[in-house]
Amino acid sequence: MEAALAEAARAPAHGDVPVGAVLVGPDGQLAAADHNRREELQDPTAHAEMLVLSAAARRAGMWRLEGHTLVVTLESCAMCAGAAVAARLERIVYGAADLKAGAAWSLYNIPQDRRLNHRMELVAGVLERECASVLADFFGRLRSRSPDGAGGVDERPVLDQAGPG
Ligand code: ZN
Repeated sequence: MEAALAEAARAPAHGDVPVGAVLVGPDGQLAAADHNRREELQDPTAHAEMLVLSAAARRAGMWRLEGHTLVVTLESCAMCAGAAVAARLERIVYGAADLKAGAAWSLYNIPQDRRLNHRMELVAGVLERECASVLADFFGRLRSRSPDGAGGVDERPVLDQAGPG
């Protein structure tokens, strides 16, 4: 999670919400690391999780990433949780819960939905405080920059400490 937090810290340099992810292979080696690049690439799929899954699959020459663990600072959305299932991951470990968009416990539990053909282990709340404060600091700076103090973003993750884990 420390590595994912380090990735998250790189996102604001290009105006992106600080969410970082790393993918760890079955051997415990780092398979990929990246952060949210939605604004930078103007790509709605450029979430940290999507980028590490694609990078690792490309590198391995294989879309199946069995035995891999996705570590991400914020609970995955429906797209990323779906991609984790599609990649046949073994585990998702996340920090802060996202009560507004989370699909790995909060709104849906896609990684553990019995109707799907693959399920995985979920570990929530790892370094939750640190992961949440990276986001809170980012949005706090945005708010302090806007003249009316109202903030300039439409999609604030809800950072509720009463999340899972
Ligand atoms: Zn996502």
